[in-house]
Amino acid sequence: MATSKGEIAINEDFCKGCGYCIEFCPKDCLILGDNFNSQGYRLPVFAQKEDCTACTICGKMCPESAIEVYKYLS
Ligand code: SF4
Ligand code: SF4
Repeated sequence: MATSKGEIAINEDFCKGCGYCIEFCPKDCLILGDNFNSQGYRLPVFAQKEDCTACTICGKMCPESAIEVYKYLS
């Protein structure tokens, strides 16, 4: 089983539901969730935390800068 190298935080108020983070995560960590934000956009969910490599691609791809990536030090 993979060991997580980091994690992400999604600012749900900023998300516009474009799905880029889901599409471009090389580890398929993100999936489309069942919840919507206050603007009616369907939110992604960080579902496969253990596979995250903290590569930062999701954060870079997000056009709304809604994702922060945190890399574990060890
Ligand atoms: S940091 Fe990389 S591996 Fe982790 S969720 Fe984002 S795109 Fe996926
Ligand atoms: S890339 Fe950003 S705006 Fe698009 S679904 Fe992901 S978090 Fe939301």
